[in-house]
Amino acid sequence: MKFSLLSFISNDIAIDLGTANTLVFVRGRGIQVNEPSLVAVRRLDQKIVAFGTEAREMLGRTPGEITTIRPLRDGVIADFELAEEMIRYFIRRVQANRFMRPTVVIGIPSGITEVEKRAVRDSAEHAGAREVFLVEEPMAAAIGMGLPVHEPVGSMVVDVGGGTTEIAVISLSGIVTSISIRIAGDEMNDSIIQYLKRKYNLLIGEKSAEIIKMKIGSVPPYKEKAGMKVKGRDLVKGIPKTIEINSIEIQEALDEPVSSIVEAVRLTLEKTPPELSADILDRGIMLTGGGALLHGLDAKLREVTNLPVNVAEDPLTCVVRGTGEIIENISKFQKVLNRSKLY
Ligand code: ADP
Ligand code: MG
Repeated sequence: MKFSLLSFISNDIAIDLGTANTLVFVRGRGIQVNEPSLVAVRRLDQKIVAFGTEAREMLGRTPGEITTIRPLRDGVIADFELAEEMIRYFIRRVQANRFMRPTVVIGIPSGITEVEKRAVRDSAEHAGAREVFLVEEPMAAAIGMGLPVHEPVGSMVVDVGGGTTEIAVISLSGIVTSISIRIAGDEMNDSIIQYLKRKYNLLIGEKSAEIIKMKIGSVPPYKEKAGMKVKGRDLVKGIPKTIEINSIEIQEALDEPVSSIVEAVRLTLEKTPPELSADILDRGIMLTGGGALLHGLDAKLREVTNLPVNVAEDPLTCVVRGTGEIIENISKFQKVLNRSKLY
């Protein structure tokens, strides 16, 4: 990006408020924050001690005294107060000039309620925003991927995040059909935990489950085999033990959440108006969000829908690049913002 006076004085920001990760883009400067949506709280008096990456690092170091909370778990705002504090913290962190009130564009899950939208908007306003625009995440993701959102052609986006999977068909600057389910990456982790408990009487934590998923997780028809050692606690003997697991077992473990995601995609296709279905038949489905990185998910969707399925480039940053593009050129996206109708 070229250095300009604008980038020096601009405070305007775009946010992807994800259930797992929060990313912040500053106009003229690009992505400045990419951290887990996490708050560390002291157990004793419930005082907030850290946010984001710092909160995650704190967890291991002072076990017992500090607990970490994900205020947006499951795609909804589970804890309004903490969510507000977190939004405020991330906004303040990138503000170069406290006296100039920024315009803020925020990507929000398409399934959230009016009350939750209000809460997101209020938090940004309390943090000093002059004007707040909310954009549904699938729309932001589509913009981030460079899809022709303003044109009269249908594009389908499947965004598999931490707490929610959002599926949307976009055309003429608006979301025509969408489904949001609360089954995504977290649910996959949970399925791995349950599977190892059932099969091996082994208890592992959420973090270990996520590592297993990222390392050897896949969906059939993906065939490449892999294995790894997993440490946990034996539920019968109560002592630590290590076992060896393989990718076939993890495919079994992930069957349920993956099936739910595939089913939701099928349902959305069913609900799509026929003229747009024809576009999707030609142009296919764009897969994004961290879950898009799960090996074989694209092939599975291809198999079930018979449509072309493509994984977006850098799926973890699509939404923030989309909201970023909006903040760089608000007037170009006026229609998208009006359609998102959040006032
Ligand atoms: P959100 O938008 O809800 O914050 P993200 O799009 O940031 O979610 O994606 C986070 C999810 O993606 C997490 O559940 C994480 O485990 C999952 N994820 C990240 N990388 C991979 C990977 N390589 N394979 C499978 N899942 C992944
Ligand atoms: Mg997301």
